[in-house]
Formats: sequence, C-alpha cells, structure tokens
Amino acid sequence: MRFEVLTIFPDLFTSPLQEGILKRALLADQIRVNLHNIREWATDKHAMTDDRPFGGGEGMVMKPEPLAACLKDVQADGKGTVVLLSPRGAVYSQETAERLAGLDKLILVCGRYEGVDERFRRLYVDEELSIGDYILTGGELAAMVVIDSVTRVLPGVLGCADSAARDTFSCGLLKHGQYTRPREFSGLSVPEVLLNGDHARIEEYRFLESVRETLHRRPDLLGKVTFSKAEKKQLRRAGLLNQVQQAASGQPQQN
Ligand code: SAM
Repeated sequence: MRFEVLTIFPDLFTSPLQEGILKRALLADQIRVNLHNIREWATDKHAMTDDRPFGGGEGMVMKPEPLAACLKDVQADGKGTVVLLSPRGAVYSQETAERLAGLDKLILVCGRYEGVDERFRRLYVDEELSIGDYILTGGELAAMVVIDSVTRVLPGVLGCADSAARDTFSCGLLKHGQYTRPREFSGLSVPEVLLNGDHARIEEYRFLESVRETLHRRPDLLGKVTFSKAEKKQLRRAGLLNQVQQAASGQPQQN
C-alpha cells in the first residue's frame, strides 16, 4: 500500500516512520510513504502556500494552486483516494482504518493555519477525516495516526497473524486486562485461571472479562456485537446475559 502525503512540514514524519512496526513495514516493502513538500509547488518568489482570507478575519488560509499542482503530480500515475485531514470530517474509527487498508494508494492532505481553500476541497477531496473533536495545529499528526492504524491492519504487518483481529474495536468488545511476569506485583496476583494452562477456560475468562470491561466503560459498543450461541451460554452462566442485552438495546442498566 502506498501513502502519499501533502504537507508543508515533511520532517514531522521522519521519526515516527523510523521506529517499530512502521519501520519494519517500510523495510519489508509492505508500505511506502512518499512525502511531498507543498512549498515546492508554490510559484511566487517567496514560495507562499498561504494567504489572507477573503472577507477578513483571523489567520491565514492555504492557497489552492500549490496544493492542486502538487496533487496533479502525485496523481500522475493514478488518481488514488484523496483524504483531507480536517476537524470538520467524519470521526476516524477502526472501521475506517480497515476500509482504507483495502486501497492501493491513499493521498493524505495536511492542512495548516485556518485550513485549506474551500475550492480545493470541493474540486479534489474524496473524503474528510477528523481524528477527534479537538483542534490540532496541523493535519500531520492526524495523517500519522491514519498511516499507523491502517498499516497495522494490513495483512502480514503484525508478527502474530491474529493479534489485530483480537484488538479492542476489531472484535466489537474492549480488550480484557493483560498480565505478564512477575506473578505477584505490589500485593496483586495474576488471576489463577491464567496460570493453569487450560486454554478453553482461559479463552472463556478473557471473553467474559472483555464483556465486563465493555459493559462498564463502553456499553454503547454492545449494540453492534453479535454473540454466538456458545458465547451466549457463557454469558448466561456468568449472569451477564440480561445486562448485555439491556445495554445492546440502549436501555439504561440496572445494578
Ligand atoms: N480553523 C479550523 C477550524 O476551526 O476548523 C482549524 C484549522 S487547524 C488549526 C489546521 C489544520 O489542522 C486543519 O486544516 C486540519 O488539516 C488539521 N486538523 C486540526 N484538527 C484536526 C482534527 N481533529 N482532525 C484532523 N485534522 C485536524
């Protein structure tokens, strides 16, 4: 998969791409990330990429011509999908990351200042994405969030084949708590069931813990989860089935 990033601050991407799973994915040619400095497509002698807003008001607006010229070159070998990072966009989610991971070429446009000229958005942008209801100084960190989360779900990128499928959100439930050595830490022990090697019991324990976490922290997620017959049996045995059904139907929970 190829990411093409349009930005006036390409150096912001250097360090995140040089560590961990992203570095490995780049070295293994599972992803490519091409950074394009929009300034190089500016035509005036000061290489201006922004100007004052028509109608007056605060701040500067990113000019459409350098953005459009840069995009034209980036699209010379194929149109790809153009995403503008923007607080006005649809809120980014794991579902969106999984959908974007099916693309061959994703073009990420990073705004700065007060944002990009509206005509660029209307003419060239396929989709606008926000990483949350807060304002960043620019789209670069948001683009990095997209690159990181999309890369993570690409086939073969994670060492353990099924660890992405078991993540919080991918299976619809929050992840259960996890433990590593030592067995005792500051007076707290690892739950006994995780130490006995009985994999069926461990699976059931983890599943029920995931359901409890989701009921407690994000009951709104349960409306989208489909439980198998065997899982419903486990929920009934643990006395959780009614609570789960109530939460899934959007009713307030009774304690
Ligand atoms: N004046 C704009 C507004 O009120 O919507 C905010 C512009 S912001 C300072 C500059 C750029 O940062 C935006 O054009 C966008 O590319 C990026 N940005 C800011 N917050 C973002 C968010 N929550 N998600 C994605 N991109 C964001």
